[in-house]
Amino acid sequence: MSHLLHRQIHHDYPVGVSGQGVYLFDAAGKAYLDASGGAAVSCLGHQHPEVLAAMHAQLDKLAYAHTSFFTSEAAEALGDELIAHAPANISHVYLVSGGSEAVEAALKMARQYFVERGETGRKHFIARRQSYHGNTLGALAVGGNAWRRQQFAPILIDSDYIDPCYEYRYRQADETAEAYGRRAADALEAKLLELGPETVIAFVAETVVGATLGAVPAAPGYLRRVREICDRHGILLILDEVMCGMGRTGTLHACEQDGVAPDLMTVAKGLGGGYAPIGATFVGKQIYDAFAQGSGLFQHGHTYVGHPLACAAALAVQHVIRRDGLLDNVETRGRQLEQALRERFDEHPFVGDIRGRGLFWGVELVADRETKAPFDAKLRLHARIKSEALARGLMVYPMGGTIDGRSGDHVLLAPPFISTADNVEVIVERLGEAIEAATAGMKV
Ligand code: PLP
Repeated sequence: MSHLLHRQIHHDYPVGVSGQGVYLFDAAGKAYLDASGGAAVSCLGHQHPEVLAAMHAQLDKLAYAHTSFFTSEAAEALGDELIAHAPANISHVYLVSGGSEAVEAALKMARQYFVERGETGRKHFIARRQSYHGNTLGALAVGGNAWRRQQFAPILIDSDYIDPCYEYRYRQADETAEAYGRRAADALEAKLLELGPETVIAFVAETVVGATLGAVPAAPGYLRRVREICDRHGILLILDEVMCGMGRTGTLHACEQDGVAPDLMTVAKGLGGGYAPIGATFVGKQIYDAFAQGSGLFQHGHTYVGHPLACAAALAVQHVIRRDGLLDNVETRGRQLEQALRERFDEHPFVGDIRGRGLFWGVELVADRETKAPFDAKLRLHARIKSEALARGLMVYPMGGTIDGRSGDHVLLAPPFISTADNVEVIVERLGEAIEAATAGMKV
């Protein structure tokens, strides 16, 4: 019997014993094509020799040095690398061990920024429904799935929520994508005015929604208008790119495609590609300056901030992506994946929507394409698809989101940036088989 407490108590996972490129292998030697990169993590696939070599080299020199005493060559080099390619106005990075920690740090930085300026009355964060920003208490508080927060609500920070920018569900039939983007963004202004802008710290959103809805890009112009609204009312914009960032959508940062630069931004998963736990909070210059000219200290810290081994791994991952021009492959294979998904599922009776960018795609399952009614939550269709895919040697990331209190089923595809044309074909073929098997016997 396993002594591990996973999220699901009654788990029955295969034991992963080795990896090679886009494949993972279990104890019986069965190969699984990793079409989700775990949860959009393994951007370089598994056991990349250069990343392993860089990690070994770092281990041979220095595995760990506490930031109260030392910085390290690896952390400094990673900081330089990230800032050299950061969105406009970002001047520093804070290196942590994962996505929740990066979000937690961003929330605290945002609050401290205003405190340093003497604006202590700001206490609200505004985020979006059907969103996920992590599981620590601060990150959970800005997460927009009420069922995750419910039992912890009395001890969470103050957050309010607006609807996500989610064309499939919320764009009206007679509305252009641009008009919908404006309307969705204007909900932020309405919420700000309701709360009183002087009480609000920041708006938090994923540039492309990942963990709850399976790759939903914002409507055209949405984020630019959000940026304008934040500026007009003097609040900060925090973009969470933990899942969609670091090249996943075809540009290093997803917000580049929306023409928007945030005040704070979080990345994790693809930063280290799964070779080591690492995340980062990107810090806008005005925030750094407020700390520097104020208390001189960001009131925060973790034992593993800037861990040398994790930094060496992330540096190697980012170096390989740049040197091998892998973002071009993300675009090329992404276009192929979109086309294959559309050919296979556009007419499928249970597929309501296919959306994404780069190598970040979501397929939304519905019981009725006309009404967009989701399947009964009790069926746990997303989990069934995951199991059927695993049985066929395919890893896809399932999600059971909530739509107006009902359940929705989504499948996220986030294959490694090194994926080949053959890999993409196999992914769509096996996903098709898994969906057929999971929905067998269900009536249209
Ligand atoms: N933010 C987003 C958008 C995520 O998708 C996730 C994880 O899925 C997190 C934050 C939390 O990251 P972690 O699981 O590394 O703590």
